[in-house]
Amino acid sequence: MIGIVSATAAGAAAGARLTAAWPERTRVYGGPVADAVRAAFAECEQVVCFLATGAVVRLIAPLLADKRTDPGVVCVDEAGRFAVSLAGGHGGGANDLARAVASVLGAEPVVTTATDAVGVPGLDTLGLPVEGDVAGVTRALLDGAPVALRAEVAWPLPPLPVGEGDADGAYTVRVTDRLVEGAAREVVLRPPSLVVGVGASRGAPAEEVVGLVEGALAEAGLSPASVARLATVAAKAAEPGIVAAAERLGVPLVTYSAEELAEVAVPHPSDAPLAAVGTPSVAEAAALLTGGELLVPKRKSVRADGRPAMATCAVVRRPGRGRLAVVGLGPGARDLLTPRAAAELRRASVLVGLDQYVDQIRDLLRPGTRVLESGLGAEEERARTAVEEARRGHAVALIGSGDAGVYAMASPALAEASDDIDVVGVPGVTAALAAGAVLGAPLGHDHVSISLSDLHTPWEVIERRVRAAAEADLVVTFYNPRSRGRHWQLPKALAILAEHRAPGTPVGVVRNASRADESARLTTLAALDPASVDMMTVVTVGNTATREIAGRMVTPRGYRWQESAR
Ligand code: SAH
Repeated sequence: MIGIVSATAAGAAAGARLTAAWPERTRVYGGPVADAVRAAFAECEQVVCFLATGAVVRLIAPLLADKRTDPGVVCVDEAGRFAVSLAGGHGGGANDLARAVASVLGAEPVVTTATDAVGVPGLDTLGLPVEGDVAGVTRALLDGAPVALRAEVAWPLPPLPVGEGDADGAYTVRVTDRLVEGAAREVVLRPPSLVVGVGASRGAPAEEVVGLVEGALAEAGLSPASVARLATVAAKAAEPGIVAAAERLGVPLVTYSAEELAEVAVPHPSDAPLAAVGTPSVAEAAALLTGGELLVPKRKSVRADGRPAMATCAVVRRPGRGRLAVVGLGPGARDLLTPRAAAELRRASVLVGLDQYVDQIRDLLRPGTRVLESGLGAEEERARTAVEEARRGHAVALIGSGDAGVYAMASPALAEASDDIDVVGVPGVTAALAAGAVLGAPLGHDHVSISLSDLHTPWEVIERRVRAAAEADLVVTFYNPRSRGRHWQLPKALAILAEHRAPGTPVGVVRNASRADESARLTTLAALDPASVDMMTVVTVGNTATREIAGRMVTPRGYRWQESAR
């Protein structure tokens, strides 16, 4: 919940804009301001104060306890010009909140945490538990001092400006699930790499299950902070001791059917679970089911009273899963690149793409991002490189212009990718839409995109599709319409459409939509000069109802009121 506090009518009005934008997430605190700030601070995860920073500093100073748990506090000035992240920039999410508030109010976000200012991700913002000398290592990263990365477990981290391996750097970022002696000048990131399989007889006490799991981890030298989940058999999904153990470790409990578990080859099968739940192994099988290395084979709980053990557990290290983000950059203009695309570019430690697209977004990348760019062609190689890097456990962004899934890299990449990596797609504004917005409303009814490139598709297939679109009266947008070596295809395609559409059918030609040298022309099927079309262009041909109205290309939606108006 976001608490909103204001003192003046202007502040209250701006606060009301936030509550209107986020009705479910905001709560207004009225009454005397000091009491309101104290109440909001105590009850909310975040607080927005429409008050002077000085006033808020004085009010919250006695309340501040720990930056990991304090709410994030944002101050907005009386005129609504600035949204200042005042406290809890990372842990309390105040930096993100300042940006969000600024975007609702049309204000400028003010973020003063050093890591954000220089584009280095805060070590406490990586989404992994972090231990050790966070302040010291962060300082070193900011100062550009040598920092070594020791990744004992491959995990898809955002870029950190660090060296690989055991550089002489006095500072270290260590990625490990092992218990390690806290060393000076070292931070330890805890990847969620461990899966604990558990089995328990009915009524096994929570203490027995928790004690078994904690003991197994400790003896194997493994950190509970790296446990991703507990896994067991479906029949034990509600077994109180197991549920309690998951809660105690703060991880989800996942369950598998006895049939699924019975198929997993395990080193220590036994008859007892077979009789009870129908699989020769619960703990080992549940831990191993999604793959990985068995670090702690099945072990049983030990009971103080000497009675038979009621719980078993096993620990597996799952392989690091790399992350492949397939990111569409939009047609060219920076403000048509989505915020999500920008976030993925900053999230990736490896960027793969065509050099001209990399140039388009180089300023958005974080320092330390490894850029693998290549020239035109080489599509398969780019796809393979991106997938290989993700398989090595990296966070990879594969970029394409427009939408990366439209005549672009997503298909060759996903054709290569197996299910051992996570894939995230970020849609982008494709050329047909960017051009449509320039032309008017050409895509107001059913439409199709056809690429005239016969590089990967035989011309007969292309021609068949153009013919079908012509017969079906679809609005058609031609991608890759004409290149230096390929000039007869566009006239041929237009001729096919002309068999079914009047010579006066509107045709829009848009070159470099949304780029600095954008140009657009509205012409007709009969008048279009193919020589004016090149590879930076899309050509949109209207259907039989498309009209030019006030210089704009409009395809009616076919409502009756529109029909009668014509
Ligand atoms: N993935 C891209 C399309 C790649 S195919 C997308 O979704 O937009 C390349 C073709 O797209 C070009 O030959 C051209 O026809 C078209 N194109 C891409 N960007 C364009 C732009 N900004 N303006 C006009 N056409 C564009």
